[in-house]
Amino acid sequence: MIDSLTIEEFTACGSHQQGHFLLSSGLHSSDYLQCALYLAEPRRAARAGSLLAAALAETVSEIDLVVSPAMGGLIIGHETARALGLPFLFTERADGEMVLRRGFAVASGQRLIIVEDVVTTGKSTREVIEILQADGAEVVGLASMVNRSGVPNPFEPRPYRALLEASFPTWNPDDCPLCRDGVPIAKPGSRQITKI
Ligand code: ZN
Repeated sequence: MIDSLTIEEFTACGSHQQGHFLLSSGLHSSDYLQCALYLAEPRRAARAGSLLAAALAETVSEIDLVVSPAMGGLIIGHETARALGLPFLFTERADGEMVLRRGFAVASGQRLIIVEDVVTTGKSTREVIEILQADGAEVVGLASMVNRSGVPNPFEPRPYRALLEASFPTWNPDDCPLCRDGVPIAKPGSRQITKI
């Protein structure tokens, strides 16, 4: 059994906030969670990477390469790869399409794992799976720091591990109880500047 992260650790570093938030999806929520602040402290990032590596090592064998989507997955993917002693590669968006970092390719038959910071719908992760498989590689497992999908494994039948299960209430603006109570809404990340 691998140690997990706790919501208290995210709250303590400001990475989890409570209030009234407008999410990028357009929904309202009482909670906001972003991993960037958590990962801004390299020792925390290294620990999270070690925990994910241990969880993956329990679950998947014979991994050749770790792949993460930029930007969110970069730091945690790199730290996980370091802990596993494996090479690391990332994907990025170019003209709206998910592509491998320019100048890199995966080999046919390579066994890859995908590491993310947060999985919500899993949509962008599925795009990464598609481009890697199109090159003949095999995605043998997935992992993220936080699972916000609401289900234990949104990537069935592939194995998936997360360090924190977080499901916060979200509402359509019309149904939002915080709006009804007149609580001012904040759009996280738009005005707020964090000094470290
Ligand atoms: Zn609201």
